[in-house]
Amino acid sequence: MELFRHPDFDYHEQVVFACDVESGLEAIIAVHNTDRGPACGGCRMVPYPDTAAAVTDVLRLSRGMTYKSAMAELPLGGGKMVVLGDPRRHKTPALLRALGRFVDSLHGRYVTAEDAGMTLDDLRGIAETTRHVVGIQEKIGADGEQRVGDPSPSTEYGVYVGLQAAVAHRLGRTDLAGLKVAIQGLGSVGWKLAQRLRAAGARLWVTDIHADVLKRAEAELGAAVVPPDAIFSLPVDVFAPCALGGAINDRTVESLRASVVAGAANNQLLSPIHGDRLRQRGILYAPDYVINAGGIIDVAYELQDCFDAARVKVHVERIGVTLAEIFRRADREQLQTQLVADRMAEERFRPHRPATGAASTATG
Ligand code: NAD
Repeated sequence: MELFRHPDFDYHEQVVFACDVESGLEAIIAVHNTDRGPACGGCRMVPYPDTAAAVTDVLRLSRGMTYKSAMAELPLGGGKMVVLGDPRRHKTPALLRALGRFVDSLHGRYVTAEDAGMTLDDLRGIAETTRHVVGIQEKIGADGEQRVGDPSPSTEYGVYVGLQAAVAHRLGRTDLAGLKVAIQGLGSVGWKLAQRLRAAGARLWVTDIHADVLKRAEAELGAAVVPPDAIFSLPVDVFAPCALGGAINDRTVESLRASVVAGAANNQLLSPIHGDRLRQRGILYAPDYVINAGGIIDVAYELQDCFDAARVKVHVERIGVTLAEIFRRADREQLQTQLVADRMAEERFRPHRPATGAASTATG
């Protein structure tokens, strides 16, 4: 594998490989850019088919974090850590401690957090051997609830604020009463978003792969339940992807009937051409790493030891202002919103690529 010529390398500052024979640890930390501050991003443990797949994932994710934190105006850079292995079989206390030592060896240039395959308890295990861990403090969230870690309530609030900004721009309305919204995925973020939209008077269509949560949504939120494949083509105002990445792809982009796409999922566009296609079809897209930045904003305040729910809330609300700016600029420059977001982010940090290098679309 030629790392420096890897299509996703994008002039990363540092890529470090760790191997600990005793615990069986094989992990990679990628530090994309520390121009704005220490690289912060979650630790993901996934049974990757091979090391090349893990390298691609960590490079894409760490670069995405640089863009996300820059757009959220945080004093953070972008980084990520991946652990090779099956979280259900290979995760042991010894491996977590080795992981902590690995993080510690970067002396704070990289700060880790929770991601797929890692739990709060795992983070506590990592924190036994490093202090560069975030998301394990007890705090009272913007929703008034006491919790440890879990930034998803802040993510949800940011998505709600961003959805409002998109609706105001595209449909010229500030009142959500009667607004028709289709939500894909009723997990930590999607469920709370559905509750908040319902409270604002919106009409909901929802889908998930778990029948129990759909039953609850029908009973408690008066939502109409549809099968997973039917969620894309509903005649609604807003489509909110809150499940997996790649929701906007060759097939779905043509069947969408919504005027706005605004949701929490990472990597919503399967590729940049789908962002172009949304624009051509007159569908306003709220770039994923801008609208779902509430979680990293939450984590950033904890990291700086100044978590205060009211301040986090005000910061999260700026997501709406940033999106409105992106939408206006996209209209003016006749560009897709994701590309405008990438350019705006790059005005906020110093990309390391040579000045002649082509800008790349980043999602994270
Ligand atoms: P989650 O795992 O709690 O919820 C995801 C939900 O989507 C689950 O209920 C799952 O059953 C459902 N789902 C999975 N596949 C589906 C399919 N094909 N069709 C319909 N539903 C499906 O995750 P979450 O924390 O709510 O996050 C949602 C999305 O937002 C993810 O893409 C995540 O990466 C992204 N995100 C989350 C946060 C956060 O703070 N939680 C921050 C930034 C981005």
